[in-house]
Amino acid sequence: MEEHVKQEQVFDLTGGLLCLDFANTVDDRTETHPQELLMSFKELVLWSQQAQVVTEQKAKQLLEKAEQGPSEATRVLKLAVEVREAIFRIFKAVAEDESPGEEDLVILSAVVAEAQIHAQIVPGTHGFHWDWAVTSNDLDCMLWPVVRSAADFLTSDELDTVRVCASDSCNWLFIDTSKNHSRRWCNMKSCGNREKARRFYTRKKSSSTVS
Ligand SMILES: [Zn+2]
Repeated sequence: MEEHVKQEQVFDLTGGLLCLDFANTVDDRTETHPQELLMSFKELVLWSQQAQVVTEQKAKQLLEKAEQGPSEATRVLKLAVEVREAIFRIFKAVAEDESPGEEDLVILSAVVAEAQIHAQIVPGTHGFHWDWAVTSNDLDCMLWPVVRSAADFLTSDELDTVRVCASDSCNWLFIDTSKNHSRRWCNMKSCGNREKARRFYTRKKSSSTVS
């Protein structure tokens, strides 16, 4: 029998960096009702697959394992959201020229240390590169490259390229790689146009109320 395939969430990966795309898994962050995009372990795995952190095969294995051990999957999802929020607050602070909270750096460092246990150096076609030693029990393996990305970026010379979307209701993070450092929105199509429409509307409204 053919299984009914539910329309799957397609994640917007416009942050320019893995850890920022991960931070951007909440919509409408500044609205009174932010929309959580990682509602289940399945969505966490789906994001990981779309962000190319895990292969399709690995994603299937993770979901099978999660079915066998739902409490571990729940723990990992909770951890993922906790570390995502820490990553968000750290880079939002940096983008706004503020100091990140000490607690958030502690959360990030703890997961980086955990990830580091699984890091290994493997030979490649040209020299060596970092890889991950993953066992089938590691339901949290998608978090390792994410926190590595956050730690590497945080300690890099590129840190001043991080920005918060200029839209009032977005708060997504991204890297500004534009030539004159003028990128303002996470996504011109959604936030850029929405913001322009809002300003146009506000202008029209205020001009009509004045006259
Ligand atoms: Zn935005």
